[in-house]
Amino acid sequence: AELDTLDIIVLAAILLGTVAYFTKGKYWGVTKDPYASSFASANGLKAGKTRNIIEKMEDSGKNCIIFYGSQTGTAEDYASRLAKEGKSRFGLETMVADLEDYDYDNLDSIPSDKVVMFVLATYGEGEPTDNAVDFYEFITGEDVSFSSGNEPALDNLNYVAFGLGNNTYEHYNSMVRNVNAALEKLGAHRIGEAGEGDDGAGTMEEDFLAWKDPMWEALQKKMGLEEREAVYEPVFGIVERDNLTKDSPEVYLGEPNKMHLDGVPKGPFNAHNPYIAPIAKSYELFSVKDRNCLHMEVDISGSNLTYQTGDHIAVWPTNPGKEVDLFMDILDLTHKRHDVISVKALEPTAKVPFPTPTTYDAIVRYHMEICSPVSRQFIATLAAFAPDEQVKAEMTKLGGDKDYFHEKVNLHHLNIARVLQRVSGGKKWSNVPFSALIEGITKLQPRYYSISSSSLEHPKTIAITAVVEKQILPGREDDPFMGVATNYLLALKEKQNGEPNPTPFGLTYEIMGPRNRYTGIHVPVHVRHSNFKLPSDPSKPIICIGPGTGVAPMRGFIRERMRQAQNGEAVGKTILFFGCRKRTEDFLYEKEWEEAKEVLSDKFELVTAFSREGAKKVYVQHRLKERAKEINELLEKKAYFYVCGDAANMAREVNNVLAQILAEQRGIPEAKAEEIVKNMRAANQYQEDVW
Ligand code: FAD
Repeated sequence: AELDTLDIIVLAAILLGTVAYFTKGKYWGVTKDPYASSFASANGLKAGKTRNIIEKMEDSGKNCIIFYGSQTGTAEDYASRLAKEGKSRFGLETMVADLEDYDYDNLDSIPSDKVVMFVLATYGEGEPTDNAVDFYEFITGEDVSFSSGNEPALDNLNYVAFGLGNNTYEHYNSMVRNVNAALEKLGAHRIGEAGEGDDGAGTMEEDFLAWKDPMWEALQKKMGLEEREAVYEPVFGIVERDNLTKDSPEVYLGEPNKMHLDGVPKGPFNAHNPYIAPIAKSYELFSVKDRNCLHMEVDISGSNLTYQTGDHIAVWPTNPGKEVDLFMDILDLTHKRHDVISVKALEPTAKVPFPTPTTYDAIVRYHMEICSPVSRQFIATLAAFAPDEQVKAEMTKLGGDKDYFHEKVNLHHLNIARVLQRVSGGKKWSNVPFSALIEGITKLQPRYYSISSSSLEHPKTIAITAVVEKQILPGREDDPFMGVATNYLLALKEKQNGEPNPTPFGLTYEIMGPRNRYTGIHVPVHVRHSNFKLPSDPSKPIICIGPGTGVAPMRGFIRERMRQAQNGEAVGKTILFFGCRKRTEDFLYEKEWEEAKEVLSDKFELVTAFSREGAKKVYVQHRLKERAKEINELLEKKAYFYVCGDAANMAREVNNVLAQILAEQRGIPEAKAEEIVKNMRAANQYQEDVW
């Protein structure tokens, strides 16, 4: 048991709050959310951490574990949705578990009357997500061994599996496929199909919904579960802390953790602990008015962060004021947006996704993905809290009818507040328990950017090259869809350069951060190491395909090779294929390529493809084809081949064109050429950094 003093104070406050609720607030009057009432009983006092999943199950009385392997939060979100649905529809005692938090060598001892679910995202080139690496290596390992020594080892294990993948990548859903195969081989029993969601086709949510219903049916049969009428059961209790204000020092106003709250953030900086980095400089790269692409240099010299050329930097965005206001307004939270609340898990296995005590405003602004696409299931859940029967009926229809939902919601890129507003005609949604919002809305996720600087040239400055996400949609001409992180970065750049919102539709952000601590233009970041790397021997030739912002890591590579050449190293041939619309509009880093030519002379070549200059659209893959002979010769000299940018079309076409080139130049069948490209990928001679 590791309750600290603060926990005890909070728990005491919660207990009092609960009493207050039952006594209609006579003594204390704080618990205004009626769902906080089930708090005291469910809030187990056993907070000690164990890595033993069976011990955890037994201690917490669970019979259904949902493990997730998640990188961007979607798999984690699906896992909690399964947990909620299992509980509310079938009375299963569910718990969500991060694969990283447990050991797996006792999976063979999980009793057969329990079920284990795996929700597994595939990341990048068919890799497990960071939190699932150990599990993946364990379960697919040659000599996997378990504690009890049963034969077949996992004969007791009943499991369910769903994968999140992207069909534009070579190893589509390989995580769930390989884990499923490994579990089957070990004798485990799968219930229902191993589902696969496809982000590439944009059908992830619908794939998930279509998979889960037959799965629940199969599970119901297998475990003899009875379906009951689903009632909303909160996972979190909300306690209003009337004795605190937003200026109280212990109140989180968006700080990600205690060190930040205390004003003494310390490393290691990582996915749980961002570094609040000064922005050294920022400027616009496009020369057109209606589109923006930012170059931004982030100073990491005050931290112990390091990076290597080709790595990724994660930016922690905050939501724009306009969207926060809209959300507050439609959910009738405006009048109490700065009130202080504590949020506690109503059961010991749930995790509150942000630190508290905090304010409604800070939660919505810093921790909730309020602008992202809305899940149809969440709309169905919210129907129960509609302001009137008519609105409820419409929400139920939206929640149940895939095509109707697509037409009314997806097509217009509506976020949650906008859906609620449209459906109710502006009538406030005062009955939605705040806990339902915490559960139903994903945690605000950091966005990744391919670092566009060279660590050899600038070890303590990281450059970002980001195109600002803005889409004018039919029927929303005055209210374009705006990406969260890129418009936040744009606002930072405008602030830094003293340009008060010069762009049309400019959004305002709380740029100074919580307690105005980010003064002087700062951005919270961390670094993620990647496998996208230059050959260790600089004399090897490289071929870089980087259209649009796909040029970001290529800039890093080329600057690195310039520096190597200046240091007297022999640098091999370096070809960059760059594409954009027009030379005069979005030609990124045009001047820098001239500089590269001066330093590397005939070792550097830029090949451009401008898609909107001639009568015919020309893309990088066309230019690649034109250079077939030279490309083949370079590959015969063991050139490294790099592709960065759009995963959906460009990366796949470049792959195909390369196979065509090899077939044609080497006089071999296409199938054989495709095999060679595959082998190049396996040998890291062909590397992709696509999104
Ligand atoms: P978001 O708000 O996240 O929106 C992104 C997209 O999601 C929208 O375009 C839209 O299609 C969809 N969407 C969001 N909300 C809704 C809604 N309510 N309804 C319907 N659809 C919606 N980008 C770069 O510019 N440069 C880079 O170098 C770069 N490198 C990357 C490297 C990696 C490894 C990865 C994974 C991504 C990289 N990206 C890069 C992309 C980047 O991470 C962001 O995805 C991008 O900048 C958009 O972020 P945003 O917050 O502005 O947009």
